[in-house]
Amino acid sequence: MNKANVGLATTVILAVIANVVVVASPSTDSVVSKIVSTKLTMTVDSVEIRFRADRTIPAFQRPELNGNNIVFRLSGVVHADSSLASTLAPAHIAVVADLIRTFLVYRLTIPPSYHTCTARRDGPRDVILTLYTRDASTNEPRPSESPSAMRKDRSRWSLDVIVIDAGHGGVDVGAEGVNGVYEKDVTLSIAKKLRALLQAAMPTTKVVMTRDDDTFVELYRRTQIANESNGKLFISIHCNSMPTKPHPAHGCETYILRPGRNDDAARLAARENASVRFEKSQSPYASMTQDQLIVATMAQRSFVQLSEKLASYVQRFVRKETPIEDRGVSQAGFFVLVGASMPNILFETAFLSNTSDAAYISSARGQQEMASSMVNAISAYATSYRSLLEK
Ligand SMILES: [Zn+2]
Repeated sequence: MNKANVGLATTVILAVIANVVVVASPSTDSVVSKIVSTKLTMTVDSVEIRFRADRTIPAFQRPELNGNNIVFRLSGVVHADSSLASTLAPAHIAVVADLIRTFLVYRLTIPPSYHTCTARRDGPRDVILTLYTRDASTNEPRPSESPSAMRKDRSRWSLDVIVIDAGHGGVDVGAEGVNGVYEKDVTLSIAKKLRALLQAAMPTTKVVMTRDDDTFVELYRRTQIANESNGKLFISIHCNSMPTKPHPAHGCETYILRPGRNDDAARLAARENASVRFEKSQSPYASMTQDQLIVATMAQRSFVQLSEKLASYVQRFVRKETPIEDRGVSQAGFFVLVGASMPNILFETAFLSNTSDAAYISSARGQQEMASSMVNAISAYATSYRSLLEK
């Protein structure tokens, strides 16, 4: 796949994955089993889709895999009204009658990294369809999976382009600080300082900004810019905030892409993702569901280890070199990270709703220190990344 198209392709996959077509018979038999729920769960190496019926599922066939498509048939089962619509396929469900026998056919389109599929029973009422990643031997070289493949093609993986994303901008002001500052201004200011320091510290590395003035850039466009620039790192800069201010919560946290695991992460992701309300209705993220987000994170599996490494360096250096407290590395479902074809993090520098955090991060000195500690974190990451390539 042409690298420049990767961001776009991710978007297409997301659109198609929602296109689960259900073919069901109109059964006159009132005791036939009904699928009452479908649940999608991601594990480290796989994605599971659990089909649950209201009573025993009589039989199912081995899933058929054809390219990026899976056809899975459950026999003696019909689909309860709209249960799929509420989970896997919010907008694209189609129910077609088959007059001969009773069966359900699920058609799913999966991202290219998932190319093995099995089905198994888990008790009488549950059948689990599991998608596994492609066999490692046929996989493309990935930084976290195949250091030997990386060594063969150093130029492809060298840290030659770093993409800095200043959160929000233009009509999207982001959070408003307890001191009246806008998040969009703080993030741009830190991003520009970070760019200048990076250019000095790593003169052979190109620094790309998703915006360098006060303009609105759609969330999907930000990773599109990063992918088109062949970025090797994507760093989205933000400021945290609580709904009430002043608020005692303070400190910095770094996020990698995963659907939110706790209430705080989900709340934060919801606030940051709210930027899509400023986007045109055709924005690919405008109606993204939690399940679609889970699927989107599958495409990033190969970058997770490197993203985590960068995230932990950022937290470590900021803790050491600024007065901002370390709240650790977390996971949440940030739309802005969804399309990135490179290791990526979202960094919440400080809480604008906290009086002392806000004063620090609004000041030129605070922003300079923050940018400087980020450069040191990126340099440490670059060193460990290089040693991985040269091992
Ligand atoms: Zn933000």
